[in-house]
Amino acid sequence: MGSQDAEHRRALWWRTAGPPPDAPRPPPPGDGASEIAVIGGGFLGLTAALHLARRGRQVTVLEAGTVGSGASGVNAGFVVPNFAKADPAAVVARLGRERGEALLRLVGAGGSRVFETAREGAIACEAEETGWLHLAHSAEMLDTLRARAAAWAALGRPVRLLERDEAMALSGARRVAGALLDESGGMLNPLAYAWGLARLAEAAGATIHEGSGVEAVEPDGAGWRLRHAGGSLHAAQVLLCTNAFRTGVARRLADATVPLQVYQAATVPLAPEIARRIAPGRHPAADTRANLFTYRLDAGNRLISGGMSMFPLGAHARMGRMIARRLATELRLDAAPELEHVWTGRAAMTLDFLPRVFTFGPGFLGGIGCNGRGVALTAMLGEVLADAACGVAPEALPVPSGPARRLPFAPMARLAPSFAIAQARWQDRRLGREP
Ligand SMILES: Cc1cc2nc3c(=O)[nH]c(=O)nc-3n(C[C@H](O)[C@H](O)[C@H](O)COP(=O)(O)OP(=O)(O)OC[C@H]3O[C@@H](n4cnc5c(N)ncnc54)[C@H](O)[C@@H]3O)c2cc1C
Repeated sequence: MGSQDAEHRRALWWRTAGPPPDAPRPPPPGDGASEIAVIGGGFLGLTAALHLARRGRQVTVLEAGTVGSGASGVNAGFVVPNFAKADPAAVVARLGRERGEALLRLVGAGGSRVFETAREGAIACEAEETGWLHLAHSAEMLDTLRARAAAWAALGRPVRLLERDEAMALSGARRVAGALLDESGGMLNPLAYAWGLARLAEAAGATIHEGSGVEAVEPDGAGWRLRHAGGSLHAAQVLLCTNAFRTGVARRLADATVPLQVYQAATVPLAPEIARRIAPGRHPAADTRANLFTYRLDAGNRLISGGMSMFPLGAHARMGRMIARRLATELRLDAAPELEHVWTGRAAMTLDFLPRVFTFGPGFLGGIGCNGRGVALTAMLGEVLADAACGVAPEALPVPSGPARRLPFAPMARLAPSFAIAQARWQDRRLGREP
């Protein structure tokens, strides 16, 4: 087992996703060919493969580890159909009305799509379409959420603003000035969902190979040759879906984004009366602080929250203690709750917090930019990549596209989140939002 796999197996989901799939997915033998190759077996690659296979295309997924061994198997399972940092109005201002609204419609539909896929594909992933709560910590932030809720509602999304009393009735959080409720959000067990997506893609005709890291992708005739440890695969079209990884060809995508090391913790199951008090409608929630506070329950009433560390050394133990203390303070628990699992994973951020389709050459594309909201967004972005592989021109896609450019400060980018988290904590303290 590689160190990446070992790290991922610390996640709560490895214990609660049920038995791992037992069908072997060995690496491809020697040299081969496929009409379309997908690199990476997370939500994005699997969703693209599912759509392509359903359209009758021959598609092969090459996954370096096992299905779900990236961010898709370790995230917190919040299904949030919007942007982590960008306001709808800012998206329209940046992309223009037509393209901006096309992107907003796509992103806004992500939550419903996830739950639909799980339902129709009979994926047992503890999916709960409860809605998602964005808690305002101040009157000022409530005004921001008011404008945001109106913008989403104008696009036909089931999003509304809750004034203070209504929001407090749905959340046990300490500071609630009101909230935005997106009824199409919710939560699930992400690893079980990833395993289910792989099963659906295979049932539709896709081939998935695990333990098949792609070292390089080289032009070869009218298509591309993917080099892996056991040989090579020729494909007319290639989709790079490797998120924040930097191994082999994944580096080409990673160099265009900022990596974000995120820590998660899950408590022992809560007493039913405490679970009812902090989440009477079982809504997963996040607040509006710069160093945001998030919480949700899993199917066994474990409380799950996360955070980012400024320094990597000793971060596991330190982050576990910090998350437990913050849960106690923010949710008014009697004491810091006992933790059952602490784990970490790497997400990727684009500089403008918007998703992207990157072009690496004719018929060689990559998708990224889920910015911590990838559960819902990949359900839509995977279909966009499938459209592109079926001939839709990148400029006609509802997602900004263009050549992947290495960030000019790529080696420094790994340090950026440490500065960002320090700045967020400072900002929250300055504005009196941090106890
Ligand atoms: C700790 C954490 C918590 C998060 N919480 C949430 C949340 O609650 N809600 C939400 O919406 N989003 C959340 N996110 C973000 C979300 O998990 C991601 O946006 C999403 O999983 C990205 O999916 P993906 O398929 O693009 O990438 P990944 O799941 O990372 O998949 C990439 C795959 O590529 C494979 N790979 C890498 N290199 C190669 C190679 N050279 N050859 C072949 N395969 C390769 C990897 O093994 C991996 O399986 C979180 C992220 C993290 C890290």
